[in-house]
Amino acid sequence: MSRSKVNWTQLLTLLLALAVLTVIVLSRRNEVQQTISRQTADVDMILPPHVADTVEKQVYADLPDIDITSWEYLLCNPAHNIGQYAPEVVQIESSTSYIDTRALEPFLNLLQGARAAGFSPHVYVGYRSYIMQSSQYNSVVADFESQGYSTLDAEKAAAEVSAAPGTSEHQTGLGLDLLDRYAESLSNYEMDENFLAWLDEHCTEYGFIKRYPENKISITGRYEPWHIRYVGTAAAEFMKLHDLCLEEFVNLY
Ligand SMILES: [Zn+2]
Repeated sequence: MSRSKVNWTQLLTLLLALAVLTVIVLSRRNEVQQTISRQTADVDMILPPHVADTVEKQVYADLPDIDITSWEYLLCNPAHNIGQYAPEVVQIESSTSYIDTRALEPFLNLLQGARAAGFSPHVYVGYRSYIMQSSQYNSVVADFESQGYSTLDAEKAAAEVSAAPGTSEHQTGLGLDLLDRYAESLSNYEMDENFLAWLDEHCTEYGFIKRYPENKISITGRYEPWHIRYVGTAAAEFMKLHDLCLEEFVNLY
């Protein structure tokens, strides 16, 4: 009798242990599945552009000795949302465009250089604040929603044509759309090839880079020959010499 009682106790203990183990395994599996789906969602959000998967980290002997966290190198793209970052900005000459106060002088020098070379450069878009970007983006989302898109699909579609708040480089105050002449709109606008060639050759002397060149679309996700970006002369000359875009440059540090 006593042996049978012991066996019952052992059996109950064993069953209880099995039950506890099953609960632990099931909840752990659920946790893992949630983590996997979270990771998948993150990957969807950061690709493209995402330099780490596309470019090997190289070692350059002439890599500028700079503090990559400084304002000039602020990376802003769909993978690097800068939130409500708001630099101090200043009006560019008598235009309606603004630029980060610290980049004004180099930019005025660039304008002067372009004029001396016979061009009449026009700042089409300069600084755009987080609030301005939000309202532009939200109106595009609303447009898509009114066409019958779900909110999620409308946001995806909007991101194709307008940067989401915090992801437009114009919010850094360092990115500018610079045309060779005045224009009301960019639709049907053709850049003067001579001006683009002049920019290619000279913008780094003033500390600017062509931010979205054609050969870096796989990384930046866009081709905008008119969009220039201030990074300072050391970084600009280095990027030009080694044919690197800002994503690749920042990735070296
Ligand atoms: Zn632009």
